Amino acid sequence: MATGKIGVTTENIFPVIKKFLYSDHEIFLRELVANAVDATQKMKAVSGMGEYAGELGDLTVRVAVDEANNTLTITDRGIGMTAEEVDKYINQIAFSSAGEFLEKYKDQLNSIIGHFGLGFYSSFMVSKKVEIRTLSWKDGAKGVLWSCDGSPEYSMEEIERTDRGTEITLYLDDDSKEFASNAKVNELLNKYCKFMPVPVAFGKEQEWKDGKYAETDKDKIINDTAPLWAKTPSEIKDEEYMEFYRKLYPMQDDPLFYIHLNVDYPFNLTGILYFPKIKDRMDVTRNKIQLYCNQMFVTDSVENIVPDFLTLLYGVIDSPDIPLNVSRSYLQEDANVKKISSYITKKVADRLEEISKKEKEAFEAKWDNLKLFIEYGMLSDEKFFERTKKFALLKTDEGKFFNYEDYRKLIEPEQTDKDKKVVYLYTTDPVAQYSYIEEAKNRGYQVLVFDSQLDAHFVNLLESKLESAKFVRVDADSIDNLIQKENKEKPQLRANEERELGFAFESVMPEGANYHVQVENLGVNGAPIVITQSEFMRRYREMSALGGGLNFYGEMPESYTVVLNYENPLIKKIVADKNEQTKAVTDTLDAKQVATQASLDEINSKNKEKKEDEISTADKDERERLNKELDSLNEERKAAMVEFAGKNTLLKQVVDLALLSNNMLKGKELHSFIKRSLDILK
Ligand code: ADP
Repeated sequence: MATGKIGVTTENIFPVIKKFLYSDHEIFLRELVANAVDATQKMKAVSGMGEYAGELGDLTVRVAVDEANNTLTITDRGIGMTAEEVDKYINQIAFSSAGEFLEKYKDQLNSIIGHFGLGFYSSFMVSKKVEIRTLSWKDGAKGVLWSCDGSPEYSMEEIERTDRGTEITLYLDDDSKEFASNAKVNELLNKYCKFMPVPVAFGKEQEWKDGKYAETDKDKIINDTAPLWAKTPSEIKDEEYMEFYRKLYPMQDDPLFYIHLNVDYPFNLTGILYFPKIKDRMDVTRNKIQLYCNQMFVTDSVENIVPDFLTLLYGVIDSPDIPLNVSRSYLQEDANVKKISSYITKKVADRLEEISKKEKEAFEAKWDNLKLFIEYGMLSDEKFFERTKKFALLKTDEGKFFNYEDYRKLIEPEQTDKDKKVVYLYTTDPVAQYSYIEEAKNRGYQVLVFDSQLDAHFVNLLESKLESAKFVRVDADSIDNLIQKENKEKPQLRANEERELGFAFESVMPEGANYHVQVENLGVNGAPIVITQSEFMRRYREMSALGGGLNFYGEMPESYTVVLNYENPLIKKIVADKNEQTKAVTDTLDAKQVATQASLDEINSKNKEKKEDEISTADKDERERLNKELDSLNEERKAAMVEFAGKNTLLKQVVDLALLSNNMLKGKELHSFIKRSLDILK
């Protein structure tokens, strides 16, 4: 029997392996099964080339547990190893590279082990002793038993062995006993080995017999050696794609579409991606894509390998060309990964385009569930935007769909403003903004629906990308101003009229927001009052709510523009009431104001050429007194208006109706509105 010291630089590597790989202990099983699968495929190759004349026999890889003795065994009928090979592959190469590997990649070990020759040694994460029994396929080879108890010492001896291939036995650590349990091993095989390309047997098939399950002597194969993605797309039926999806994600609703990826130049990649139904942002789950390397599960976190928006998809990607031996943050810079990433992006866009053409109706029907994904892609990936803009859809409030080009043609004649901009009207809430939508449609305008979480950003994107386009929410202004066709005439008002109406109407608006009252001509049949919120301010508030770093706007109170329609008979009546009831006061105030203003103007013009410190104290005092006088006249005017408004039922009623149609009438105000309305009806 030979003994020796394994060639490691680190004095004792096993504690290191255990410590650094703690979180990922379970991958040892994948590593060992993967080695067994490799050895089996090499055996097939050797036989295929005619170098081996014997029978291949049953090539199943077998996993077995012995719960009583805490052992786990993996057996294959692959190429096996000669004593020299054990020495070379197990004692020297694998072990020393494991040492270097650990030194270098301490921080990024997850998911990359196994591509570095640490594979076999990962068994020491869970074992106190490991034995290899192996017999090479080569003529005249002798059986070898290699044994190592976790120190750098190993022993190697010749044994009698008739079965070609390798058997690895793990004597599990006391704190790793779970790996000798059927349930745990089943779980791990299902996670890591489900699609390995050689049959893997664990336990026996069960059979329902005499009222209970009984074991048969048929091996239970835990894997599908020919998964769907490895097959030729043209030979696969739709239903098979759906079945495969259900197998991968048993708890999910059926997907909307699938894409079969299949490329062998300039890199190798196969896979199937599925579009899940995404109802809203709460629904989004990332990292549902599983990454395989030649049918061996590697990881289910594909960030940095595919663009962020694609991590919303489900499915499988299989590629031997994704370098897993470098840190994840470098992945994005890797030339192959870049190619792969842009290939997948292109395929996704191509497939969507194909569906949008071939299955137009299905595409429209699924748009609501697809939209979040597509908009996210368009927002985050320039190229995806360029590809997608040809077939992405816009939805109107009536549920009709248009692509960008058709929609533009549709609205251009009616919705081009005086600056030659095409105005896209939209609603974020068809119920709350109902009356604005109706008004817009009465004018012959179209209204789009943008009601998803990303839409605040998406509207900005479209506005910047579509040529001479302007996006305006239906309630952003009064109907005449939404799409300004030509400069229209302002109403003719008495000097203080607009201010007085401002005082009167502001005084009855709900607290907690700012209001700016304007008087305009909106036609005899136009609504008496229109409450709007500026497109600019609203978008900034929304963006800051979404976390755009624009907190200044986010913290400001809401501010609204209240437009009084001077041509509307109700407003006319209120103005007449006001004039009648306050005329005596306002006439006096007007006269005083004119006189005070004249005195102020006189002082100002006298001192026009002087600097501030050259003005006489007497003049300064007088100027201050006059300014105060103006302020107090203003206050008196305001008080008169507040008093008038407080007593004017019509005014309150008209304001409340406007608030109501804007969804702004709540609580106490709503209650008194209803009471007042009932009183009027008495
Ligand atoms: P890797 O598989 O990444 O090369 P490992 O440490 O897992 O690294 O294995 C080192 C080498 O030992 C393998 O490349 C292979 O030559 C040999 N080996 C491991 N397991 C087996 C096996 N079951 N049958 C035959 N050879 C094996």
